[in-house]
Amino acid sequence: MLVTPCPGLYYSTIAQDGIIYRLRIPGGIINHQQLLTIADIADNYGQKYINITNRANIQIREVHQEIDLPTLAKLQQLGLGSINYQIDHIRNIMTSPIAGIDSEEIINTLPFVEGWDNYITENSHLGELSAKFSICFDGKGAISLINQLNDITLLAEIINDQIYFRLYLSYGEKRQPPQDTGILFPVEKYLQVLGVLANTYLENIDITQQRKTRLREVINNIGLGEYLKSLNFLQPYPLQIASSENLTFRQQKHLGIHPQKQPGLYYLGVVLPLGKLETWQLRGLINVSQEYDHHLTNNFRLTPWQNLLITDIPGDKIREFNTEITNLGLTTNPKNIKSHLVACAGRKGCNSAHTEANIDALMLAEYLENKTNLTIDFPINIHFSGCSKSCAQHTEGDITLIGVTLAESEETTVNEPSYQIYICGRLLYECVSCYKIPYLMTKMLEVYQNQRFSYDESFREFTLRYTTDQLNQLLVN
Ligand code: SF4
Repeated sequence: MLVTPCPGLYYSTIAQDGIIYRLRIPGGIINHQQLLTIADIADNYGQKYINITNRANIQIREVHQEIDLPTLAKLQQLGLGSINYQIDHIRNIMTSPIAGIDSEEIINTLPFVEGWDNYITENSHLGELSAKFSICFDGKGAISLINQLNDITLLAEIINDQIYFRLYLSYGEKRQPPQDTGILFPVEKYLQVLGVLANTYLENIDITQQRKTRLREVINNIGLGEYLKSLNFLQPYPLQIASSENLTFRQQKHLGIHPQKQPGLYYLGVVLPLGKLETWQLRGLINVSQEYDHHLTNNFRLTPWQNLLITDIPGDKIREFNTEITNLGLTTNPKNIKSHLVACAGRKGCNSAHTEANIDALMLAEYLENKTNLTIDFPINIHFSGCSKSCAQHTEGDITLIGVTLAESEETTVNEPSYQIYICGRLLYECVSCYKIPYLMTKMLEVYQNQRFSYDESFREFTLRYTTDQLNQLLVN
């Protein structure tokens, strides 16, 4: 077994609390048999829980003995883990968790996820890609992925009744979502385009380096025009059409009960606090699903927001089904404070962490849940990262907390775990002690709740009405 910095089925990593095994689940689609096998491993090797990550992978953590080869082979037979181990380290392919069941989508992106996964499996030289080389397909449905931090995002678009992909690339500043290149091409050319972009990237990096240059750095070095030169074969398709749409605020319909595009069927988004699911709950969810329809074997999906969807539930069963989920100690309520809480592993799981991001996030959620004078009647995204690499994707958060060290902080008196605090991308505080966070967050949410124009005004819209100084004033008064 190789031990490298990237956790994977064939590439485990060691954290403070034990070995981490990561299973790459392209598109987050997973069946009952695969889940039950993973639950067995978490029971036998781990601590009887699994984690869904913010790339819709599964992690088995706190493993203290390496998983034996027959068990790994079984996972591979079940389609978990690539048949080409050289590509297993590459970031999971992302798409909407409701692809194929979303009545608003322009195109079902699942076949594209599968196509690209097969392509990298069959082309061994792509095993040299950076582990962080990440591809996302966005079918422009009810759930937007355009702000997710991927190297390349292909967004569906219709022009004159023909469906195209619009190419977004990561370049410029660190930790910014991919930017629109204005390039459109017919969807059937996607493998050719991605193949060329991957090869051009490889031609411009030193593959012998342990830390491979990121795509963003390559484009910043050679220039966008140079990187895109190899796409000239796409002409005469309509290249370089700027988008005039605001794509940022497409709704996030992944929690609670929603109709599918298939008449009579519904999906249910289940909240997993910070992606954690006990194996008894997982087995319970599978049992409930099979009780309602024993033909269902393939109706679970993992989301990049660390939650879980159960699909294909008949409309006349959906309320009962929802109650059964509550009996398993889980909720589907999108307004639950834990439903939009994201945190990285923190010190226990990552050597770069300055804070216990995971523990701090859960403590805050529990504190807010128990505040009697605060009714959380609005979805609010709170993202905790243990360091400035910001794996918890701060660009998406209404409120983002990033663990800092003394050196990173402008205040020199800090000697306890502390966070920088951003509100909708704007830095509000350089350094706040971990112990003051619950009070400050409560104050922030109370101010919003009491001063919003209406129930419909979101936290983001509310904060946009104020400058940073004005927001500061609101919080100290
Ligand atoms: S944000 Fe930092 S501390 Fe958290 S997982 Fe990423 S690298 Fe580790």
